[in-house]
Amino acid sequence: MTKGRIHSLESFGTVDGPGTRYVVFVQGCPMRCLYCHNPDTWAMTGGEEMDPEYIIEQYLHNEPFYRNGGGLTVTGGEPLMQVDFLIDLFTLCKQHNIHTCIDSSGIAYRPENTDFIAKLDKLMPLTDLVMLDIKHIDPTLHKKITGQPNDGILAFAKYLSDKGVDIWIRHVIVPNLTDDDKYLYDLGYFIGGLKTLRALDALPYHTMGKPKYEKLGIEYPLGDTPPMDKKDLIAKKEVILNGIRDRRRDDGESEHEICKKA
Ligand code: SF4
Repeated sequence: MTKGRIHSLESFGTVDGPGTRYVVFVQGCPMRCLYCHNPDTWAMTGGEEMDPEYIIEQYLHNEPFYRNGGGLTVTGGEPLMQVDFLIDLFTLCKQHNIHTCIDSSGIAYRPENTDFIAKLDKLMPLTDLVMLDIKHIDPTLHKKITGQPNDGILAFAKYLSDKGVDIWIRHVIVPNLTDDDKYLYDLGYFIGGLKTLRALDALPYHTMGKPKYEKLGIEYPLGDTPPMDKKDLIAKKEVILNGIRDRRRDDGESEHEICKKA
């Protein structure tokens, strides 16, 4: 079995998928999101190597916690940078009837990498849900915010939709950075075309990651940007939902289907 390079484990996650979840934070991420609150997961070489069997043992030890529709989520860092480990871990999960979720930025997706796609094709039947974090719909702004292009990420969303994998889209709304209504609408219009979109999380930017930057000796990129106001967040989420509804309407779907899916 392929070991995972793990940053940390959390036995009682409540924001990383449905129900209560055992959360595996992998080490290593090629993105550099300006608002990342886990910069300690960036380095590809840190963390601790762990066997999938060990992680499953830990899960089973706490199994009663997860009977409320929960399961196991792998987040990070970027989980899909460790696709071999995910295949082995999720194979064990399925042997134990554990609900599986990947929380990903999609940055590892490279359609031209046939070896990677073959592995992904193996992983997806073992995956119950992908929480896909789209940082920005505009390619130029995405590059500015994360240091990476978004074409592969959007292609990954379409891949998931075509494969029939359930998708939750997550989008962090940062004042004056990712809160422009035009782009939020465009994001909604894009994700409205995903056949397996099950939910949308509009997440408010917060500054709780700041102390980690200080500890690592890295300057905090967003300086004094204030946290996102919760009331404004509701209005911003509505803009994304409008984009989803319009897309569904343009694609000929009924209002009922629109409400059910978003
Ligand atoms: S993808 Fe996630 S872990 Fe990576 S830099 Fe962005 S927010 Fe941080």
